[in-house]
Amino acid sequence: MTCEYSVQGHAISDLAARFGTPLYVYDGDILREVYGSLRERLHPGMDIFYSVKANPNISICAVLRSLGAGLEVSSLAELETARRAGAAPGNIVFLGPGKSAEELDACLQLGVHAIVCESLDELAALDARQQPVRVLLRVNPSFTTKGARLSMGGTPQQFGIDQDVLFQSGQFIEELRHVTVAGIHAYMGTRLLSSSDIVHNTRGILEVAGKLSVELDFELRTVDIGGGLGVPYFDNETDLDLDALAEGLNDTVDDFRTRHPGCRLITELGRYLTGWCGMYVIRARYVKQSMGEWFVVADGGTNHHMAAVGIGSFVKRNFPVRSLTRYEEPAVQRYNIAGPLCAPGDVVAKQVSLPEIRPGDLLGVERSGAYGPTASPGLFLSHGYPAEVLVLDGVAHLVRRRDTVADLLGKQQLISL
Ligand SMILES: *Cc1c(COP(=O)(O)O)cnc(C)c1O
Repeated sequence: MTCEYSVQGHAISDLAARFGTPLYVYDGDILREVYGSLRERLHPGMDIFYSVKANPNISICAVLRSLGAGLEVSSLAELETARRAGAAPGNIVFLGPGKSAEELDACLQLGVHAIVCESLDELAALDARQQPVRVLLRVNPSFTTKGARLSMGGTPQQFGIDQDVLFQSGQFIEELRHVTVAGIHAYMGTRLLSSSDIVHNTRGILEVAGKLSVELDFELRTVDIGGGLGVPYFDNETDLDLDALAEGLNDTVDDFRTRHPGCRLITELGRYLTGWCGMYVIRARYVKQSMGEWFVVADGGTNHHMAAVGIGSFVKRNFPVRSLTRYEEPAVQRYNIAGPLCAPGDVVAKQVSLPEIRPGDLLGVERSGAYGPTASPGLFLSHGYPAEVLVLDGVAHLVRRRDTVADLLGKQQLISL
């Protein structure tokens, strides 16, 4: 008995027939559920911003914006995405270690909530524009962030300004004429799965923010704490405990708000908000054996899902992979799932136990709604980027059409020979 996977009543085979494969499918119910369950637990005084880089699809951003999320952006196109997704300028922050003059102009013109400054030279350059502007100082904290798979604090890095440098920059900041330092930004790193680590990091950042505002003599109006909340992908990982997180965090937030009543608190999250809702759907083209191992060769692979290659580990760990055609059937065989690229690294999963896979079957990589196509080498071997579909309130919307050959070749020039 085959029982296929479906999204809000749409059989996956129907979606695949209608939109083609490879395909990203986002379940709007899950997107809303994840945001809602976080929102209802987090202290109401903590604003949630969505880090657009995790999934910059404009419709995904619009859904999150409609739920109340602000947007954190890092390029001109992301800023325009935020604008078109309906974000009020006061709910947009712009950051990045190497902003262009054009990007700064656009921020000033739109009047974003804040520009996050990542070096003293950038502060000086902004001040030289002689326009009033509100900035957050991105601090690279001296304490080591706990629990991040990719630490972005307490290590040498291109982001932000080292904490001890900031503490000695009182004079420099006092001399700024047009720039208003309105607060502090810190990003702790990504893929945090332990609530106690997140609480530890957040407390550390709030403490540093308080001390900096005293030492550098500015009023703390915003503290933006980069989230980095994780989604478990691998066998040895477990879900982040939201209740424990809220319990540990909300007292800290209460305490901070008592001491800084006018201060806006923001947490920026990417992966956690969109990771759960996305499925990368591929179709098996061939199933073959090589030297005793079974290989499924599918129509899409790491060109659209680079993260599945393995994040920061030497051991190959698999994302959750399922047969979508035989969703409920028991596993009978171990397979390597390869894509169409002429590259040995194009393997989405190794030795995964699955029900029998036949050519034409659909396979899905779950929890793939963050850092998917836009974080993957979609132009490698010129297959282009896949279609993306958002199922919202029972309706399947094509939210990005698949790249065509014309799209891929359109920007090239053939010189005359
Ligand atoms: C990437 C990034 C985020 C989002 O990180 P996630 O791990 O996806 O939550 C937040 N803030 C900054 C500064 C980032 O660079």
